[in-house]
Amino acid sequence: MSKIINGKEIAQDLRNKLKQEISDLKNVTGSVPGLAVVQVGNVAASSVYVKAKTKSAKEVGIEVIDHHLSEETTEAKLLQIVDTLNNQKNVNGILVQLPLPAHINEQIILDSIHPNKDADGFHPVNVGKLSIASHNDGNLLIPCTPYGCLIMLKGLGIDLSGKNAVVIGRSNIVGKPMAQLLLKESCTVTIAHSKTKNIEEICSKADIIVAAVGRPKMVKGGWVKKGAVVIDVGINRITIEAEGELKNKLVGDVDFDEASTNASAITPVPGGVGPMTIACLLRNTTIAFKNKLK
Ligand code: NAP
Repeated sequence: MSKIINGKEIAQDLRNKLKQEISDLKNVTGSVPGLAVVQVGNVAASSVYVKAKTKSAKEVGIEVIDHHLSEETTEAKLLQIVDTLNNQKNVNGILVQLPLPAHINEQIILDSIHPNKDADGFHPVNVGKLSIASHNDGNLLIPCTPYGCLIMLKGLGIDLSGKNAVVIGRSNIVGKPMAQLLLKESCTVTIAHSKTKNIEEICSKADIIVAAVGRPKMVKGGWVKKGAVVIDVGINRITIEAEGELKNKLVGDVDFDEASTNASAITPVPGGVGPMTIACLLRNTTIAFKNKLK
């Protein structure tokens, strides 16, 4: 039987530690980390994420500065707001919820966030630092989802050095930074993507598979070597028929039932990577606060 990696529990543990750390920081400095949460428009999924992030931030003692803007907000106006937040003393982290409306260029907005306040770790300066740093001394602002995956891997207590790791997906927010993090742990990293040939064969040699694709249950049991660790980043909504009714279900990029027969440890969906992402956003905000004190 494979171990099911409980992301909810690990994320709760991380949030508890942050809460204590923020309380200690408050005692010493008299202030707490501040996170500006910017949402443009009313995309339903974004509203759910923003609500969850705001709630979690407040629970650990982070001050939330909320900017919910109308769908019609112009790029110039949004840039102006980001500029104000860049200079606002009580703001240590800025989160602009994606996706933005089509008339706003996301990269221009992400680039306009001051690198020291880049709560998502997407700014080119932070991407560069992640790439260049030979190790993480705890002050890097790292994209939240892949960092959450790394925490879960490290929590297994296995020696990552020299392991064959396959990351499926090469997005800027998950696949590429995940590969960088695993490389820093001295894994031998392969990045697979939509043009990769023989992906099943490549995965079947991996000690660690991280799937960040967006294709429901793509990774089958036969792709997973006996004893491999499988981290499933995917969040896919599918419709299934149950008791004569059509129902929505969340599934990952991994066929959990099949893969868990071979994996030594595996993350479920939901309850795996998802909760870690928010916890790592709070971690980045706290790191940005501490970096400012140095
Ligand atoms: P993305 O930007 O769409 O990237 C998907 C990647 O998968 C691309 O690099 C693409 O390759 C690759 N790909 C697509 N089809 C493939 C195939 N048949 N074989 C191999 N690779 C294939 O997605 P993302 O933002 O990284 O997100 C990936 C998944 O993770 C989604 O389900 C998303 O909802 C989920 N996610 C979850 C969290 C969380 O907190 N749990 C956070 C972020 C994302 P090309 O580059 O060649 O097109």
